[in-house]
Amino acid sequence: NADAAMYRAKELGRDNFQFYAPEFNATAQEKFLLQEELRNALARAEFTLLYQPQVDLRSGNVFAAEALIRWNHPSLGLIAPMKFIPMAEETGLIVPIGDWVLHEACRQNKAWQDAGLPPLVVCVNVSARQFKEKNLISRVVDALTNSGLDVKYLELEVTESLIMQNVEMAVATMNQLQSLGVQISIDDFGTGYSSLSALKTFPVARLKIDKSFINDLATDENDQAVASAVISLGQKLNLRVIAEGVETDDQIAFLRKNNCDEMQGYHFSKPVSAHGIARLLYKEQGGHTPPE
Ligand code: C2E
Ligand code: MG
Ligand code: MG
Ligand code: MG
Repeated sequence: NADAAMYRAKELGRDNFQFYAPEFNATAQEKFLLQEELRNALARAEFTLLYQPQVDLRSGNVFAAEALIRWNHPSLGLIAPMKFIPMAEETGLIVPIGDWVLHEACRQNKAWQDAGLPPLVVCVNVSARQFKEKNLISRVVDALTNSGLDVKYLELEVTESLIMQNVEMAVATMNQLQSLGVQISIDDFGTGYSSLSALKTFPVARLKIDKSFINDLATDENDQAVASAVISLGQKLNLRVIAEGVETDDQIAFLRKNNCDEMQGYHFSKPVSAHGIARLLYKEQGGHTPPE
């Protein structure tokens, strides 16, 4: 702890002080504690999923929702994935956590369908560590079997950089998933340097243009060039293209003009609870109140 670190630092003399500064120690300790908490979080049922709708730009229909994990910590409150997914990756905890996400997203999607809502595709983020697991395929099959969800309503999102770590392995795994009937999209596209010749061998249905190219889309000519290039690349390779992080009318106008297929972002909706999705779909259908 900080007192002991301070004492130790004094013992070692001034020159060494910076290496034992309490702030440094506290961060390391904080990290260690958070890791312990993360280990228990699954058993304590502290994770929850929010869902962000994805909208067809031509029809305006919601056709899919991306599952986004949150950690509801008893004293720290709601923790964003960027704060614990990297740690979960490092420790390998991402494997059981990712498994939970997969099962929960499939279960929830089937529950929406059983409640009579128009069927959606649920999109689940898969991290590098999870993707490399030998039994990924059987885990996906388990989630589908346990939930009773039809495979055509499940999509996995893998990042472009994950694929580029080991293209051969990634393509082999994606081929197996595709033969199961699971759709795959490439997340954060544009940030991972895939070569165009590699891209055409990827068995994917969709490219997600990274938010960083969408943020300043209305004014930044470089971002406009990247976004329109990705859209026409998608068209030529027969892949759908979705823009993520869409917040303004100007961004939508650009995407429409350039024939982008789909969008996801705060402009339409932030990530919401499962009930929030049900409410939204009921409203689209004609305005009933959904059952609690
Ligand atoms: P991602 O998969 O690229 O997800 C999109 C992120 O952008 C989400 O952040 C979403 O809330 C945010 N976003 C969407 N639209 C807008 C917008 O209009 N404006 C702004 N400012 N942000 C927007 P979130 O939920 O914090 O997730 C961050 C990342 O954490 C995800 O990026 C994904 O890489 C990872 N992640 C989330 N859930 C999971 C999961 O279940 N498993 C794994 N392995 N990773 C996950
Ligand atoms: Mg994603
Ligand atoms: Mg993304
Ligand atoms: Mg992103």
